[in-house]
Amino acid sequence: MASNTKNRHDDTVLTHAGRKPFENKGIVNPPVYHASTILFPTLEVYNNPAAHTDVFYGRRGTPTTFAFADAVTELERAHGTVLTSCGLSAVTTAVLSVTEAGSHVLMTDSVYGPSRNFMSKFLSRFGVEVEYYDPTIGSEISSLIRDTTKVIFMEAPGSWTFEMQDIPAIITKAKKHNIVTIVDNTWAGGYFFKPLEHGADMSVQAATKYIVGHSDALMGTIACNEATYKKVDEAAYLLGNNVGPDDVYLAARGMRSMGTRLRQHQENGIKVANWLKSRPEVKQVLHPALPEDPGHEIWKRDFTGASGLFGFIMEQPSTNALANMMDHMDYFGMGFSWGGFESLLIPVDPRPIRTATNWEVEGQTMRIHIGLEDVDDLIADLEAGFERLKQA
Ligand SMILES: *Cc1c(COP(=O)(O)O)cnc(C)c1O
Repeated sequence: MASNTKNRHDDTVLTHAGRKPFENKGIVNPPVYHASTILFPTLEVYNNPAAHTDVFYGRRGTPTTFAFADAVTELERAHGTVLTSCGLSAVTTAVLSVTEAGSHVLMTDSVYGPSRNFMSKFLSRFGVEVEYYDPTIGSEISSLIRDTTKVIFMEAPGSWTFEMQDIPAIITKAKKHNIVTIVDNTWAGGYFFKPLEHGADMSVQAATKYIVGHSDALMGTIACNEATYKKVDEAAYLLGNNVGPDDVYLAARGMRSMGTRLRQHQENGIKVANWLKSRPEVKQVLHPALPEDPGHEIWKRDFTGASGLFGFIMEQPSTNALANMMDHMDYFGMGFSWGGFESLLIPVDPRPIRTATNWEVEGQTMRIHIGLEDVDDLIADLEAGFERLKQA
């Protein structure tokens, strides 16, 4: 294998990381090991933990999981990566690994809804206090930091609302107080943004989205720096977090083409965003790659690209009109998750889940994922949808 894996570029990382063909007869992809029991050769080895190899029980990982984790580690410029059953368990495991009763956690008000529910409805029962902050707070975060603040949780752009965050400014303040910083990096796929290079302790992803990329498996990744890796690995183990080998295989397989896919998602997404801007039905497009977007400067400074997920706000339609549009789309599917090869469109309402800030837009917020279809076909599908909206 390549002897120099330092400083190789992302597309090379995606195609080569976590693969050692000549350890397996030259076969290009790592083998998929199905394993729970792993046998010890002798009583002496069984009795001596120092003699155990890195593989000694399925839950502790297999060469299949190690290979994929290594690839994510290199992509995210991390020290080590912990795999979890889904994106939400990556978030919960990351937070649990560095909090205790009495801890205070600062979480962006624009965070993925289920991450928020975990904090407010579950972790709060164990004496961990969560406080939500304005996603655009930047270095003003310092005014919210307490002696008990253990974690600052960020996500950019925000789920449903797509605000950018000044992540480097927040991390600078957090470091002054030894606070662990966690970034949900799902939107950028670990490809268009590198939280650990900006000093974050952990970058979590729903690998379910762009890494898997084909809408057929769930997985979470927690890419950690040296200071947090052992704690997170231990927390995942103690919580019984485990990933199935066939899902790891799908994630590793999806990852090989992620760079190419993301560039196409980006190109198609920006074309559709610009087209939507020209439409009378659309009041505002929420996409940080558009120059007029409030988060554009931060996005340009910190990110190297945009994926295919963004939002737009329509003039408020009646329920019937919206149904007439949504029920007859040819290519845009209506469903949760995103990051697969196909386009998706759902109406969302960010207003009731905000607490630190108000989402004060009039109209219907839509979340759109632009897939790998021909972009002209997608635009025609939306145009016909807007026509049905008017007719209802
Ligand atoms: C989807 C998503 C998750 C959760 O991922 P699952 O695999 O569905 O559990 C977490 N964070 C963000 C930003 C997401 O979009």
